Order: sequence, then C-alpha cells, then structure tokens
Amino acid sequence: MSISELHIIGGGIIGLTTAVMLQARGVQVTLIDANDIGQGASIGNAGHLATEQVFPIADASILRHIPAMLLNPTGALRLDWRYLPQLMPWAIQLLLNMRAVPFDTSHQALLRLNQDSLKAWQQFANTWHLNDWVEVKGSLLTVEKQRSIDALTHHGKRLNDIGVSNQLLSQQQLLEREPTLQNNQLAALFFPDTGHVTNLNAMIAQLTHSFRQLGGTVRTHCRVEHIVRRGDGFKLVTNQNTMMANKVMLAAGAHSKTLAKELTGISVPLDTERGYHLMLPNVTQRLSIPVSSMDRRFIMTPMEQGLRLAGTVEYAGLNAPANMRRAQMLHQLAQPMLRAPLDMTDAAQWMGFRPSTADSLPVIDRIDNVFLNFGHQHLGLTQAVVSAQMITHDYFNEVHTIDPTPYRLSRFVKSSSLN
Ligand SMILES: Cc1cc2nc3c(=O)[nH]c(=O)nc-3n(C[C@H](O)[C@H](O)[C@H](O)COP(=O)(O)OP(=O)(O)OC[C@H]3O[C@@H](n4cnc5c(N)ncnc54)[C@H](O)[C@@H]3O)c2cc1C
Repeated sequence: MSISELHIIGGGIIGLTTAVMLQARGVQVTLIDANDIGQGASIGNAGHLATEQVFPIADASILRHIPAMLLNPTGALRLDWRYLPQLMPWAIQLLLNMRAVPFDTSHQALLRLNQDSLKAWQQFANTWHLNDWVEVKGSLLTVEKQRSIDALTHHGKRLNDIGVSNQLLSQQQLLEREPTLQNNQLAALFFPDTGHVTNLNAMIAQLTHSFRQLGGTVRTHCRVEHIVRRGDGFKLVTNQNTMMANKVMLAAGAHSKTLAKELTGISVPLDTERGYHLMLPNVTQRLSIPVSSMDRRFIMTPMEQGLRLAGTVEYAGLNAPANMRRAQMLHQLAQPMLRAPLDMTDAAQWMGFRPSTADSLPVIDRIDNVFLNFGHQHLGLTQAVVSAQMITHDYFNEVHTIDPTPYRLSRFVKSSSLN
C-alpha cells in the first residue's frame, strides 16, 4: 500500500495538465491510467485549440437530422439504434437543454472558459517547453454551398458581437491564404485567436517527462475499479493492487460516470460522442492551419506526422466496436476540398470517446477531498489548461478568476434521479 497526497484517476490531457500544475505547486501527485498516459481521446483528437466553439453540442436543428441518423451508418451524425435505450436518459436531458434559458447558460459558460483558454495554453506551453508543438496562427471555417455563405456571414457577425474575433474572407482571400484548397470553397471565416497542436504524442510525452522530473508518480495499466471511503481518505481498488489516497481527482474522460457516482452519489448525465480520425502521413505541407468545413462538418489539421482528418459524431456508447468506415469516409469528405489527390499510403484510422455531458459543460469541482475534472466534450484539449487552473484554485482554496458555479456538480443534483 502506498500513500500519496493526491491520486488523479485518468492520465488524458485533463489529468496530465492538472498533475503537472499541482505537482509544480508542491502537491505529491500520483497519476493513474488504465492504459499508457495520454492514449485516450487526448491522443487522437484534431489538435485544434478551438476557442471559437462557444455553443452547446446540440441545438434544435439536430431534431431534423434524427431520421437520417438512424438510416445512414456513415453520416456525419450517427446513432446506433441498439444503443438508444441506454442513451435515452442523457438524450432527454440534452433535449431539455436546447430550451432557450439552459442553452444560453451553457453558451455563456463555454464562452467564459474559452476566453481564457488560449492565453492559458500559451503560458503553460512557455513554462513546460511545449512551444515546438503549440502554434497560434489561427484557423479557418469554410463553406462551399452558395446558401451557406449567408449562414457563415451571420455566424461570423454573431461571434464578433460577443468578442470571438473573426474575419470574413472572400474566395480569393481564402485561396490566397490556403492555395491548395479547391476553388469549390467559396468563403471562410478566419479566427485569429485559435491555435493547434502539431504533435500531440510529443507534447504528451514532454508533459509526462516534466511531471516525473518534478517528482510525480505515474502508474500505467492500472485500472481503478472502485473507490471506497476510509476515514478521511480513500481506498482505491485497482486491477493491480489497493492504494490509499488522502485526496482523489477523477479525470477519466468519458469513463468517469461510474466512479463519479461512487465518489459523490450523483449520477452525472455523461455519455460519449464517439469521433474518428484518418491520419495521412504522406500528406505534408498542404495546409498551414486547421481548416474546418461548415458544410461537410469535419476538420483537417496539419500536423508534424501528416494531415489529420477528424470529426463525426457517433452515439454508440463505450463498448461497441469502432466502425472504421466512418474514419475512411473522412477521405471522401476531404478530397473534394483539395486540388491535389490525397496520398492514402499508410493512412491510419482511429476512434475515440469524447466525454460529453448533457449540458455541454465540464464538471470542475471540489467536494471536500474529492476533485472532479471531466466531461469536456469536443473541447477537452482547448480547455485543459484553464480547467487545471480552476482545480488548482480549488485545491488551494484560492479566489477563482472564472466564476466556477456553472461547472459545479450540484447543477445535476435535481436531475440526477432521471438516470
Ligand atoms: C475525433 C475527435 C476530435 C477531437 N478534436 C478536438 C479538438 O480539435 N480540440 C479539442 O479541444 N478537443 C477535441 N476533441 C475532444 C478531446 O479530445 C477530449 O475532450 C479530451 O481529450 C478529453 O480529455 P480527457 O483527459 O478528459 O479524456 P481522455 O483523453 O479520454 O483520458 C481519460 C483517461 O482516463 C483513463 N481511464 C479511464 N477509466 C479509468 C479507470 N477506471 N482507471 C484508470 N484510468 C482510467 C483512460 O485510459 C484515459 O487515458 C476531439 C475528440 C475526438 C474524439
């Protein structure tokens, strides 16, 4: 049995950034992961520091797409009907959160987190020598349907009005900026205050190294099965051994629901939106910054290891096998947007679990010696450092710079009986 001050369950980008930050402040941290560090959603995401994404994961327009979702296994949005009974409690709450007041509450809270996210990442990257991989050169959102230009213009104006800076580019301006794009791309928004990570593997390895250098302990291939309260502390029952902990932080991404219930008694409306990527190692120097398509609903991010095509949402839970046709279809989405053929040699496909709450907001909280940091949906990379800062304020009982109220667990207390 070992005793450490804080045990963090889950070594994804959320657990890892928090582990580094707290260990650097003198907390003795043990970081536990069921696999290797950072190999969950955090390794395969699109690498986009997507501060411009300030709206909840679903709005009323999703309702129109439900019939197609059930019928088309390779559509951008897919619901596996066998998973529907399990998804229902979460889906009902998602629907309720589309009403004007909760929708706006979530929107404001996402906006607030994202407002501080980029600066937080830049400071963190400076401190922990990540500047080789954290680039802040902006990103693009393009359209190719004539009727989408109005929607894009409206979207850009709405965002500018709330302080999310962007510039509408004509087709000519877009193609001057990214000349490898096909001329079917008609216009774009350029978001200057966004960034991307060019090598997630290297960044995670560097952070893990820094954490160890600071004296942090890493336990890999160690799955926490149960957490039992013992006096003032906790007994962690794992597939390896039993550990005693004074304090515990849950950061197990999409896998956090059961342990959160054990720790707090609250059933968090957390499910997974599975996403896919296709990594093309031989496609380099094509794009200079991430390019998302509003009409095709996916993203292309230039990385050191090639071009990463990523996106799509699939509701099928944590246990169903991956449907790699969804990764392959990203090639069909990307090719028409680019002038030259995409080299598919050694293309690697991947599926991962986005941790999504029904109100689109992460759970960032402290309840006595229990810390919660999970549920960052499509924005976990973007919000990792700002979330780590909030947990650090909680840990040391410091004044928050961001009002933590919207992210607290207590928002689910009334509705938890639904699950
Ligand atoms: C296709 C795709 C594209 C995305 N693109 C972006 C993007 O461009 N920008 C962005 O900001 N976000 C993006 N995201 C979302 C982002 O990847 C996630 O929000 C983020 O990685 C969540 O981090 P996490 O640390 O909470 O979870 P994870 O990275 O999944 O880490 C959780 C860890 O907990 C471990 N674990 C689970 N259960 C246990 C247990 N019982 N005991 C011990 N360990 C356990 C797992 O092994 C895992 O390593 C994308 C996601 C996907 C799928």
